[in-house]
Amino acid sequence: TYGTDFLVRWLTAAAEAVDREADRLTELDSAIGDADHGANLKRGFAAVSETLAKEPPTTPGAVLTTAGRQLISTVGGASGPLYGTLLRRTGKALGDDERVTRAQLADALASGVAAVSQLGGAQAGDKTMLDALGPAVEGLRESFAAGRAAAEEGALATVPLRARKGRASYLGERSVGHQDPGATSSALLFAALDETAG
Ligand code: ADP
Ligand code: MG
Ligand code: MG
Repeated sequence: TYGTDFLVRWLTAAAEAVDREADRLTELDSAIGDADHGANLKRGFAAVSETLAKEPPTTPGAVLTTAGRQLISTVGGASGPLYGTLLRRTGKALGDDERVTRAQLADALASGVAAVSQLGGAQAGDKTMLDALGPAVEGLRESFAAGRAAAEEGALATVPLRARKGRASYLGERSVGHQDPGATSSALLFAALDETAG
């Protein structure tokens, strides 16, 4: 089972990955968006890891709800409220258990993903973060490594899709042939989770 410290280490590793890959995320967003996805998430996740270090929450669920709140309040773009909702809803679904299993985490993340879909109105295949998050959660039911692999495959699979939500949808057909920035950052989150689990 996994305790508070594991969740803190996950989000800290995610913040490091976002920081390291910020330029690539922004480059992807410059092709089909407004070239700020890397900067948006870098700012948001820096606030997350700072808050978690300063005032560590006492349950796994509280780590995620605290992180979600930080993302919502520090990220201006669409991805802030969406990732914030993902983490807040996931945290809520975990309740106040002190330790959680991988299966519980997968179930909780599934409700987080459903909340993202409800908030943004996107479905699988719309070329958004959901195309990585949905498969990732299913993979996670099997293992952390499978969650990571499914997220990475899902992000790659956005390349031939036409965007139907978010800024990229304004481009219509011209969004085809580019990897979605949000699906790419979602894959970073699940890679960080796998690395944290070892
Ligand atoms: P903005 O588009 O406001 O500049 P970002 O660049 O930070 O915000 O984030 C863009 C990413 O957000 C997209 O690549 C996509 O994955 C995701 N996204 C945008 N709109 C939606 C939506 N309605 N549902 C799910 N994800 C979305
Ligand atoms: Mg953008
Ligand atoms: Mg923007």
